Amino acid sequence: MNCFDQVEFADRKEIERIQAVRLKNTVYQATASRFYRGRMAMTGVKISDINSHNDINILPFTNKDDLRSNYPYGLLAMPVEEMVRLHASSGTTGTATVIFHTQNDLNIWADLVARCMHMSGVSTGDVFQNMSGYGLFTGGLGIHYGAERLGCLTIPAGAGNSKRQIKMLKDFKVTVAHIIPSYALHLSSVFKDMSVDPRSLHLRIMLIGAEPHTHEVRKRIEEIYGVKAYNSYGLSEMNGPGVAFECREQSGMHLWEDAYLAEIVDPETLDPVPDGNVGELILTTLCREGMPVIRYRTRDLTRFIPGECPCGRKHKRIDRISGRSDDMIVLKGVNIYPMQVEKILMSIPEVGQNYLIELEREGYMDQMRIKVEIRDEFFVEDMRILQALQKKITTHLRDEILITAKVDLVEHDSLPKNDGKAVRVVDKRNN
Ligand code: ADP
Ligand code: ZN
Repeated sequence: MNCFDQVEFADRKEIERIQAVRLKNTVYQATASRFYRGRMAMTGVKISDINSHNDINILPFTNKDDLRSNYPYGLLAMPVEEMVRLHASSGTTGTATVIFHTQNDLNIWADLVARCMHMSGVSTGDVFQNMSGYGLFTGGLGIHYGAERLGCLTIPAGAGNSKRQIKMLKDFKVTVAHIIPSYALHLSSVFKDMSVDPRSLHLRIMLIGAEPHTHEVRKRIEEIYGVKAYNSYGLSEMNGPGVAFECREQSGMHLWEDAYLAEIVDPETLDPVPDGNVGELILTTLCREGMPVIRYRTRDLTRFIPGECPCGRKHKRIDRISGRSDDMIVLKGVNIYPMQVEKILMSIPEVGQNYLIELEREGYMDQMRIKVEIRDEFFVEDMRILQALQKKITTHLRDEILITAKVDLVEHDSLPKNDGKAVRVVDKRNN
C-alpha cells in the first residue's frame, strides 16, 4: 500500500474504491490484535460483511480509554519485533496514549506529510525549519521525515530557545517553517526584543497546527511574518500530522481519504450528522499495518465543507477545528468554547498576542476571568484609556459568549508561555 501517488487527484469513485479495499484489509489486519479480536467477536461482524466504504457503520467505535486500558501492546496487530518506533499523544486531556509503527507505516506517514507540504506550495529547494518539539510528540519527527522525503533542507530546530530559532531563520535563509500558532505569536515579541523585523527574513510559508486556533490568529501570523500560513491537522492516534492539510486555497483542510476514512457524528447519539453540520470527527486508519485503529473518536469538532475545492482535489475538506468536545466550558448554564473568546480578542487591534481564561467560583457563583495581554504601545498610564479599552473588550465578548466576563488587562509578554501547545483555560473552581 503506497499512499503517495496519483491518488492525490483521484476522483470520488476511485477514492471510494480504494477505501472499500483498504477498509476490508484494515479490519482483517486489526483482528490480529488482542483488543480488536475481542471487539469484533462481541459485535459479530465478519470480514465478508465489509464490501464498501459505507460498511464502516457496522464497525465498533474505539475511544481514548480503549487505548489506555490496553496499554501498552494490546492493539498491536503484528509482533512487537516488527515495530520500529513509538510515539505518544501530548496528554492534553489526561494520560498519554502510545502508538506503534512498523517501517512500512513510517514510510507511508512520511509520504503523507510530504504530500501535504507539497500541496501548500513547499518544494525541493526550500529550506525548512521545524520549530515544534521532537521526542514523543509527533510534530517533530512526523513533520521532519515528510520534509526530508520532499527534499527540503530540513533543520530539526525543536521547540523553544527563541533567540537561536531567530538566528537560524536568518543565517540559513529559511523559507518554510513549521510552528505551533501560539508560539508563532509569542516569537514575534522576541523578534521585537532583538530588533529584527520578521518580514525581513526569507520566510514565505508557515505551517501551523497541533492546537486549535482561529482565523484571526492565522491572519495575525500572516501579517507579522509576511507569509502564507497553512493549517495542519493531525493526531498521534492517526500517526500525527499528515491527516488533513490546507491547499493553497486556504478554504478548509483536505483530509486524505485514501489513508483515513472520516465520519462526522453527533457526539451524544453517535449518529451521522447531516452533511455540512458540525459534529465529532471519527477516523479509521486505512494504511496502517502495525496498529490499525477503527472508528477512533477524536473528540475534535468540525464539519465537512460542502462543494468542491477550486484546486481540483476531490478529497473531502474539513473545517478549522472549533474545539474538542471536552473543551467546552459550561458557565452559568451557557456553553462556551475557548475559540469563541480567541476570535473576539484577536480581532481587537489593541490586544497583544496572549490571553488566559480562568474559571473561578465566588460564593456560589461561577465567574470567568480573562487575562488579556495588551500591546506595548497601548499599555498607557492614563486609566481612562485603559478603562475604555477594558469596557470595549468586555462588551465585544458579551455579544459573542452571552455572559459578562471579568477582563484584566495585563502587560505584553506577562502571561505564562509554553513551548508546546498553549494552555488557554485554567479551571480554579474546585481548588
Ligand atoms: P493530545 O490529544 O494529547 O493533545 P496529540 O499531540 O496527538 O495529543 O494532539 C492531537 C490533537 O491536537 C488533536 O486531536 C486536536 O485536538 C489538536 N490539533 C491538532 N492539530 C490541530 C489543528 N490544526 N487545529 C486544531 N486542533 C488541532
Ligand atoms: Zn483544495
